[in-house]
Amino acid sequence: MDFEGYCVKCRKKQAIKGAEVTKTAKGRPMAKGKCPACGTTVTRFLSDKDAK
Ligand SMILES: [Zn+2]
Repeated sequence: MDFEGYCVKCRKKQAIKGAEVTKTAKGRPMAKGKCPACGTTVTRFLSDKDAK
């Protein structure tokens, strides 16, 4: 599944490369991966629907 997240280094939205769905300490789903342009770690919070 592909996600987009905001890359702070590129200062724009990028596709999250190799995105993995994980959870925060509070149980909120999030996608975590790398920016394809610069390799910075990009994360994005997900709705419950997106996490499935
Ligand atoms: Zn980037």
